[in-house]
Amino acid sequence: MKIANALFVSPLLLAASLTSGFAHEDSAAVDSMIAMFDDGVIVGDPKIVDCTLSGGTKTSCLSITVKSNLTENDMGPWCPRNISDGPDEAGIWLHEGKRYDADGEFVENLATFYGDPDWQMFDPANGNIRVTDSKAACEAAARPDVDAAYNNYCVECLTSYMDEDVLTTYVLPLHPVDQKTPSRVNGLGGIGLAFNGIKFDAPAPVDAILAAHTLAPFDDCGGHVNLHAGYHYHAAGGCSPEVTSTNGHAAIIGIALDGYPMTSRVDANGSEPSDLDACRGHFTDGLGYHYHVNEIGSNQTIGCFIAETGCSLDDPDQICDASIISNRRGPPPGE
Ligand SMILES: [Zn+2]
Ligand SMILES: [Zn+2]
Repeated sequence: MKIANALFVSPLLLAASLTSGFAHEDSAAVDSMIAMFDDGVIVGDPKIVDCTLSGGTKTSCLSITVKSNLTENDMGPWCPRNISDGPDEAGIWLHEGKRYDADGEFVENLATFYGDPDWQMFDPANGNIRVTDSKAACEAAARPDVDAAYNNYCVECLTSYMDEDVLTTYVLPLHPVDQKTPSRVNGLGGIGLAFNGIKFDAPAPVDAILAAHTLAPFDDCGGHVNLHAGYHYHAAGGCSPEVTSTNGHAAIIGIALDGYPMTSRVDANGSEPSDLDACRGHFTDGLGYHYHVNEIGSNQTIGCFIAETGCSLDDPDQICDASIISNRRGPPPGE
């Protein structure tokens, strides 16, 4: 675990003078932020760029291009293969704010669980569960209009189906610009960035997935794979790097798309702050404003954005204008 030097120099509280670039003492503040990332995650040199935030504010942003440093061994498992498979051989599923082991027993009992007899994801003769087992199957089963042939499938995509590493460029405001009204977290651009280069994504479209009688389980870390974003988190499962904040408050686990830090749900004493706002944020000395992530079962890592968001981009050379919807990329609904 890394330790933030002195009080955490929030990327968001970075010295105001950063707008002039990496000059003199400011570079130390940027370096301290960069140091929170795992080795090998940041690709190329972070840059200060002009950006337009979601509310139209033109300001300066830090542009960081990252790739995941995880291997397939760090991910999964997701779908059980047989109704006899236990929780160690399966991931999790979320329902009404609670997490469930998506194990063989869960799959066996889906019709009862959802009160819908059309659930039949396994072969009653031998208990084998239907699982997508190729790139084509993953594509067909994970798209918003699920191919009818993949109804009643457990959907599991692998990073090995992807041709190359996914690079994502995050363009984050150096100085968060608070909004009059917090904005909903939507599928565009995600929620934020973990220090292993993995995106904290918007809530998974569970209802759309269930409508096709499919499951797309998350691993115990809260992550799964789609062919656009690669491996991404829909929950903070405590698997990504934590940076201890020296004031004994909750550990820092990432940066939200609006530039504020994200911290673990509970502080060093295991308790959740009692003064969180609707976005799950609050202000403390040292950390300033920051979000505490939610329970893994919530399917809502933070509640909303208090400040205008920047961008997550597929193309590092694209200019971030988050006020244009199409510029806030995210996986298509259904994934
Ligand atoms: Zn806090
Ligand atoms: Zn997803």
